[in-house]
Amino acid sequence: PEIIAVVPAAGIGSRMLSECPKQYLTIGTQTILEHSIASLLAHPAVTRVIVALSDDDVQFQQLAIARDRRITTVTGGRQRADSVLAGLQAAGDAEWVLVHDAARPCLHADDLARLLAIAATSRIGGILAAPVRDTMKRAEAGKEAIAHTVEREALWHALTPQFFPLDLLRTCLLRALHDGAIITDEASALEHCGYHPELVAGRSDNIKVTRPEDLALAAFYLTQLHK
Ligand code: C5P
Repeated sequence: PEIIAVVPAAGIGSRMLSECPKQYLTIGTQTILEHSIASLLAHPAVTRVIVALSDDDVQFQQLAIARDRRITTVTGGRQRADSVLAGLQAAGDAEWVLVHDAARPCLHADDLARLLAIAATSRIGGILAAPVRDTMKRAEAGKEAIAHTVEREALWHALTPQFFPLDLLRTCLLRALHDGAIITDEASALEHCGYHPELVAGRSDNIKVTRPEDLALAAFYLTQLHK
C-alpha cells in the first residue's frame, strides 16, 4: 500500500546558532532537508512527502526538489504537533503515515524498511529508537547533583521516522494538544492516550542535526551511507 510521509520543517532551530534554519544548511551538494526527504522517497512504498514549512519560509521554493511532483508543502504551526497535524490534513485517505524530522538526513534504507514492516502486525504503530549506551543519571530537582542512576536497560533514544495509522495519530495529537500534554514526538501523543507504540531498534547514526558540531558528523555519516 501507499505510504505518505510528513516532514515537520517549521522549527526555527535556535540551538544551531545559525541565521539559516538547520534544515537548509548544506551537506555536500544538498541541504539537510533534501537528504532527509530523499531518504524517505528511496523506499518504493513512499509515494508522497508533505513538508510543513514556517509561514515566513523563503528557502524551500529555491530547492530543486520543490518541483518534484511527489512533494507538497503546507504551513506548519506553533508547536511541532501543530505542524504535523497540518501535514496530516493534506494526507487524504492514506491508512498509515510516516513522520520524519527534517533534520535527520542520515536515515538508512534498511531501518526504514524494518519500521514500515510493522504495519503488517501492529495496529498502533511504532518508532525507530536506539538503546542508550551511557550510564544515565537523574538530577536532583533543580540541581546539578545526582539523585540516582536510572536503569539503562530500559532506556531508548526516540528517533524518527515514526509510523502510525493516520486516523489514530490525528486523534491522539488533537487530544494531547487539547490536554496541554508535553509532546516532543508523535509517539508521546499516543502514549498520552494510553497506547504503547513499538520500539524498532535502529542505527544510532540516524542523528538529528541540532548543534553546530552535529553538522560534520552528519556529513561523515552521509559519506558512509552513499559508499
Ligand atoms: O526543535 P526540534 O529539533 O525538536 O524540532 C524537530 C523538528 O520539528 C524539526 O524538523 C522542526 O523543523 C520541526 N518543527 C516544526 N514546527 C514547529 C517546531 C518544530 O515543524 N513549530
